[in-house]
Amino acid sequence: MGIFDRLKKSFKKEEVVEDAKLYDKGLTKTRDNFVSKLVNITNKYSKITEEFFMELEEILIMADLGVNTVMKFMDRLRDRVKKEHIEDPSMLKEIIVDELFIIYVNNEIIVNKINYAKEGPTVILFVGVNGVGKTTTIAKIAAKEIKKGKKVLMVGADTFRAGAVKQLNEWAEKTGSTFVGDEKLKDPASVVYDGLKKAKEENFDIVLIDTAGRLQNKINLMKELEKINKVIGNFIPDAPHETLLVIDATTGQNGISQAKTFKEVTNITGIVLTKLDGTAKGGIVLAIKDEVKIPVKYVGLGEKEEDLSVFDIEKYIYGLFKDMIK
Ligand code: GDP
Ligand code: MG
Repeated sequence: MGIFDRLKKSFKKEEVVEDAKLYDKGLTKTRDNFVSKLVNITNKYSKITEEFFMELEEILIMADLGVNTVMKFMDRLRDRVKKEHIEDPSMLKEIIVDELFIIYVNNEIIVNKINYAKEGPTVILFVGVNGVGKTTTIAKIAAKEIKKGKKVLMVGADTFRAGAVKQLNEWAEKTGSTFVGDEKLKDPASVVYDGLKKAKEENFDIVLIDTAGRLQNKINLMKELEKINKVIGNFIPDAPHETLLVIDATTGQNGISQAKTFKEVTNITGIVLTKLDGTAKGGIVLAIKDEVKIPVKYVGLGEKEEDLSVFDIEKYIYGLFKDMIK
């Protein structure tokens, strides 16, 4: 059974799926744009022709699926059309959904779970350029963990931008987290030191570290992150348990190139793709996995505290294609 049929079954009752509504709402723009175009061309053509393929290709590229991903996808689609003797474009809707899913999964075991520490504090380091949503994401994750009954510590190591430390402090108060950071302290590694010391002494469950991601100077950034990692490792040998790169989905291919650069600078274990609700090009989720080879672990689907979801490809596909699936 393909993903299309499986989703049809499991999402029949929307209320049984906790985050499905969030994806539904957050992907409205992409659905209105990309998916409706997809439906349009499958209706417009009565036969699958070269022109049809060209138009489909363009729609996929416009949705920020990435050129390489689209090429791979088109090859597979052409193969299937040939092998299965498909002539009617409307028959392709299900196959397109299936193939997008297959490209994402790529025969791998998808690791979208956060790697929590077996014992002691779980340390998560957040990197990414200014404005992508690091601080907001930290607040959202803190809110989720606190809801689970965890003790959360936020560490304000973005000492570069004026106001960044204060912003995190406000989120700490709002979410019921504890905060470590000092606006006057300019050395991020020493803030991290204070944070980790407190986390160990006071038995925190989760430590969320906010950093300044200045890509302008790669060598400096690399050194700074090395120093931070060393401080963390001195307190907890296998930490950080996650280094999450935050990327703004509305920046499209630029976000992909940020991911490639950060990957050279430090060991990224997962991606948080924010502002999916703000783009009509939500296909970027698929491109990132395919082109950068780092799993998307969270997606931001709005500005509110609850608008963050552990990324789930099935819910994503459902959010995109729900009108076709129903
Ligand atoms: P930082 O510089 O990386 O720490 O970015 P911030 O956390 O300060 O976020 C920058 C802006 O992006 C803020 O106005 C946030 O409300 C907004 N933002 C963050 N995540 C999302 C999201 O998932 N959806 C939307 N629509 N806005 C978001
Ligand atoms: Mg920030």
